[in-house]
Amino acid sequence: MAKEWGYASHNGPDRWHELYPNAKGDNQSPIELHTKDIRHDPSLLPWSASYDPGSAKTILNNGKTCRVVFDDTYDRSMLRGGPLTGPYRLRQFHLHWGSSDDHGSEHTVDGVKYAAELHLVHWNPKYGTFGEALKQRDGIAVVGVFLKIGREKGEFQIFLDALDKIKTKGKDAPFNHFDPSCLFPACRDYWTYQGSFTTPPCEECIVWILLKEPMTVSSDQTISMHETHSIPISVLRIPIAL
Ligand SMILES: [Zn+2]
Repeated sequence: MAKEWGYASHNGPDRWHELYPNAKGDNQSPIELHTKDIRHDPSLLPWSASYDPGSAKTILNNGKTCRVVFDDTYDRSMLRGGPLTGPYRLRQFHLHWGSSDDHGSEHTVDGVKYAAELHLVHWNPKYGTFGEALKQRDGIAVVGVFLKIGREKGEFQIFLDALDKIKTKGKDAPFNHFDPSCLFPACRDYWTYQGSFTTPPCEECIVWILLKEPMTVSSDQTISMHETHSIPISVLRIPIAL
């Protein structure tokens, strides 16, 4: 495989395992969710997020995605409850999207591909560092929010406007005073499973919390995403069945 992974045939998901053996592991994400086969677990608790808007720092384009980075040097922006056994710190959020609104999400629900999928990445501070947390089965918790086309989401515009400043790989810009919980849908119901990062090295360390209710954005809003040409705009990793 080419030195740098990507989403083309010569360096895409089918070949990631050549450099990143995890990519052929037993707990890889994303997955296809088939709602009729999902078991209800009455012992699962509600989850909550308390984010400090002052911990938002920077937005950057790493050539694969656009990411908003938070100060995670102490317990500032935290995720708790749900399937988690303790508090987790918010480190970054990023977005996966496609070349058009009919695909772009990584997980699928009953065969449906959403226009995009937001991932909020948290780590378990009991492991000391983010790097150590990556080595643990419960080291990372990701809240996944699907985006579908509908009403405009005003709170999302600040992120889309910032994309203008980071159109090419390696660019970054300040991104301050933002509480990403404004993006969460009203209903906090979720699906959970044990999986992995969806990009190399695909570490299997993630407790996924996938929100059932998508967030809506307008088709005018997704234009800003599609115009960010420096980002790969092919379909991302093909989901595998559970
Ligand atoms: Zn992601």
